[in-house]
Amino acid sequence: MKRKDFLKKAAVGTLGITTLATACRNDVATTEGGAPAIQTGKKYRWNMLTTWPPNYPIIGEGCELFAEWVKEMSGGRLTIKVYGGGELVPALEAFDAVTSGTAEMAHGCAYYWAGKAPAAQFFASIPFGMNAQQMNSWLLSGGGLELWRELYGKFNLIPFPAGNTGVQMGGWFNKEINSLADLQGLKMRIPGFGGKVLEKAGGTPVLSAGSEIYTNLERGVIDATEWIGPFHDYKMGFQDIAKYYYVPGWHEMGTVLECFVNKLKFESLPKDLQAIVESAALRLNMWMLSEIEAQNNLFMDKLLSEGVEVRTFPDEVLSELRGYTEEILGEITAADPFAKKVYDSQMAFKKRAAKWGAVTEKVFYDKIM
Ligand code: CA
Repeated sequence: MKRKDFLKKAAVGTLGITTLATACRNDVATTEGGAPAIQTGKKYRWNMLTTWPPNYPIIGEGCELFAEWVKEMSGGRLTIKVYGGGELVPALEAFDAVTSGTAEMAHGCAYYWAGKAPAAQFFASIPFGMNAQQMNSWLLSGGGLELWRELYGKFNLIPFPAGNTGVQMGGWFNKEINSLADLQGLKMRIPGFGGKVLEKAGGTPVLSAGSEIYTNLERGVIDATEWIGPFHDYKMGFQDIAKYYYVPGWHEMGTVLECFVNKLKFESLPKDLQAIVESAALRLNMWMLSEIEAQNNLFMDKLLSEGVEVRTFPDEVLSELRGYTEEILGEITAADPFAKKVYDSQMAFKKRAAKWGAVTEKVFYDKIM
């Protein structure tokens, strides 16, 4: 699909979302003991901001599905209108807008808020961090979510994990990366933490809005760009203008996407609606990861059949980048005690996960797949 067609298609929306009639239309349900669990027929209308373009494939579409699920489960008592980034407030103002109650909730990614709270990025992804399975396990069963709620609580927000990109790709390059010398002066669109690491390694991280990356790469304003993975990258058209597709996506090994809700608005909901919001977020968490994984499988195949050259970063390059990552992590955790607390929790979990993975997942890939 050409990039323009994709943009057009994205604007129209690509999912046939159907609203199922639900069995929960009645405003009075009963608990096991027979007492009414829902005492009110009050209807709630919420707005959900997103940091994504409207109906962005899978990620934006998932937000629309979330709203559908909540409507179905609540029998229409909670309806949520989803806004693309910039439609109601600029994308990166979503955090403040939900804190202040301008909107009830938002969908985004916690590393966008590192400027407000340095610890936030640990709940999305850090370079050389954990994969999706490990991040979910740390968050949901390893104490991560409690720390996340403690941090966001200071901003009158309650966070929920609500999606994951899975392992991302290392990006599209128009020059080969064979040694550390090739990073010198490399102009790459790579935001956030990964960009800082590249800078320490002698490269130049360049900020480009999503809509400008293609042109910048085509015209040589940048030598390289990362985006997400085969499915989303293909729709950006990078395969038409870049020579090499590098792995691994060292900077984003399993980026967690998030929902966050204004704490007071959440607490003003009846208990069953609160549970519905939480359940729908968890469903979205699983849905996005599964969907992205399935589409990436297909589109990796497609890219390979179209002749894209996949390259692996040399070990010395990865080890250099890892070293700079640790340097930056040292700076972040020295300056912010809460970031240190979160980092320590995550690293303790990661150490155990690495041992377990070495005798399970790694063997699975080496011997079974
Ligand atoms: Ca990325």
